[in-house]
Amino acid sequence: MPEDVGQNRAIRGFFMENRWDDREASACEGELALRVYASRLLGRDFSLVLHGGGNSSVKITERNLHGEEDEILYVKGSGQDLAFIEESGFAPLRLEGLLRLMRLDSVSDTDLVNAFRLQLTRPDAPPPSIETFLHALIPHRFVDHTHADALLAIMNTENGEARIREIYGGRLLMVPYAKPGFTLAKVFSDQFTAGAGEGVDGVVLMNHGIFSFGETAKASYEKMIELVGMAERYLEAKGAWALPEGDEPAAQPLAPRLPELRKAVSDAAGIPLIVSTRKSRLGSAFARRRDVSEVSQLGPATPDHVLLTKRLPMLGLDAESYAEAYKRDYAAYASSGLEGGAMLDPAPRVVLDSEIGLCAAGKTAREADMAGEIYEHTIEVILRATTLGGYRTLQASEIFEVEYWGLERAKLDRKEKVFAGEIALVTGAASGIGRACLESFLERGAAVIGLDLSPSIVSLYERPDYLGIECDVTSDDAIAGVIEKAARRFGGLDMIVLNAGIFPESRDIARIPAAEWRAVMNVNLDANLSLMRECYPLLKLSPRGGRVVAVGSKNVPAPGPGAAAYSASKAALTQLMRVAAMEWGGDGIRVNMVHPNAVFDTGVWTEDVLKSRAESYGLSVDDYKKLNLLNTNVGSSDVAEMAAEMCGPLFAKITGAQVPIDGGNDRVI
Ligand code: NAD
Repeated sequence: MPEDVGQNRAIRGFFMENRWDDREASACEGELALRVYASRLLGRDFSLVLHGGGNSSVKITERNLHGEEDEILYVKGSGQDLAFIEESGFAPLRLEGLLRLMRLDSVSDTDLVNAFRLQLTRPDAPPPSIETFLHALIPHRFVDHTHADALLAIMNTENGEARIREIYGGRLLMVPYAKPGFTLAKVFSDQFTAGAGEGVDGVVLMNHGIFSFGETAKASYEKMIELVGMAERYLEAKGAWALPEGDEPAAQPLAPRLPELRKAVSDAAGIPLIVSTRKSRLGSAFARRRDVSEVSQLGPATPDHVLLTKRLPMLGLDAESYAEAYKRDYAAYASSGLEGGAMLDPAPRVVLDSEIGLCAAGKTAREADMAGEIYEHTIEVILRATTLGGYRTLQASEIFEVEYWGLERAKLDRKEKVFAGEIALVTGAASGIGRACLESFLERGAAVIGLDLSPSIVSLYERPDYLGIECDVTSDDAIAGVIEKAARRFGGLDMIVLNAGIFPESRDIARIPAAEWRAVMNVNLDANLSLMRECYPLLKLSPRGGRVVAVGSKNVPAPGPGAAAYSASKAALTQLMRVAAMEWGGDGIRVNMVHPNAVFDTGVWTEDVLKSRAESYGLSVDDYKKLNLLNTNVGSSDVAEMAAEMCGPLFAKITGAQVPIDGGNDRVI
């Protein structure tokens, strides 16, 4: 993830920087590669574009299979992020076909999507950006489009238009706001065909963003930097550029409050949502402003943000009132001839609370992070516009129009994975079965917290839905810290997999030292009691009901000599789980167990241990591994998949179960 250079600049008061590097650019082969290079430069400055916002294009003449020359518009694919875009992220369309479409008086959204697809020269290309027409209409080879914060701050004021004119004079063509898609394209086209686009350096779409263009990638990019830089200097001249540092975010534990908030927000949504706090000083200060209930309720800085952030943030922690107000607004809008689909879920995506500060919700950790980051930039826009005399946005109806617009909503209406919006915690997750559990839960869409003694846990993945914490589960303090971190990062806990365990050297009862016995009990039993006790308040608040899976052992039903401490610890753990299933059933928390045996791709089973055990049975290592009724090899992922299934719908009505995963063992059966 690139760091938010936009915000750092804003707080430190730096201006837009030209990051073009001729040496880097000279390594790009062809115009599309240069298009990628310049797009990434723009994408890395979050004050220009955020998370899939903005777009860019290049027009390239290519020869088709018939040997004819076609002018192809390569435009950013919908849903692509400029910061990471590759050549394959651009959709190639026949320019002539697009311009012909523009001559129609009106086109329905469905026809438009279809017509775009028909102009693609590569059927596997991503769907083209909804702003494709604007790129087609601008006659220049390279076109860049951003939602620069500085321009949004200026445009979202009482006399925004006059200010833009004051800054740019005739250098920019100004296009009044219109709904993106065909409507906006028509307005745009009228201006260009009337010749208004001639000789200008760029186009400003009111309350929306800015376009720059040029014959080379460098020229268009540098124009964007120059034009946005001018807006920043204007703000500076008005004392509205550099922002205050803000307040220190809340230091007190948020563990009980946040999971309650998450439950309320998820209930309003009807699906579990991730809720993550932001370490945003600006957000904390904003949430504490005396006038927050006015300035935050005026709408988003651009309708482009509305899908991820919703129209308004929720103030304080009352999700129910927010949902009611949202439903009322929707009903009012629907009765005025709503175009688009049914109501979105009425849960907020951004919350401002004087104690918690700024937090954000989403169906995935990434979506929540994106909503939070967008809102941080919205705060900057609001603060600057306020300094200029007052933040003014579009009419609510214009914003609703985008919020309920079928084409935009399709982006969010995807089929979610089974654990989307849910949070799982796995102990002993740096190796073996625990490590495999991380994969199984992430694969099913959960946000996952991995705990382990090993420091490697921290960097096992670099993705927004993973949090690795180095910790000793036998330390109560460490566990309290983990729960606080889980609450702050994802908003709560829905599933826990009690997996961390140790298997001491084989020893007869007569020779077991007390310290060894205690050490085994500490990890395999006591730590799990502490974890369950501390996680219980969060599991109880799980929107779909909490789930616990404990990793026992074949040694519970079928103990072996030399493993007294281990077998006793796992038997006691089993009993603990059975009682938990009884006590927690009323809270909707399900508690189940797996009993693995001989899972060789784990840390316990080193090559040497395997070899010596196989020899003692007079078998090859391969045959020893399959020493079970099904003559099969049980792997850590088999156990992990079962643990994940136990948390899913298949086990929705099962609690207190114990499932052996051992390839079949006659002593267990
Ligand atoms: P493993 O050694 O590969 O993984 C265990 C992980 O737990 C390690 O990463 C270790 O660092 C971590 N851990 C140990 N003590 C910890 C502590 N105090 N705090 C935090 N982390 C700690 O072994 P594995 O086989 O994957 O074991 C996972 C579980 O499966 C254990 O409970 C084990 O008893 C059980 N089990 C394993 C087998 C098998 O054949 N591998 C069979 C039956 C049961």
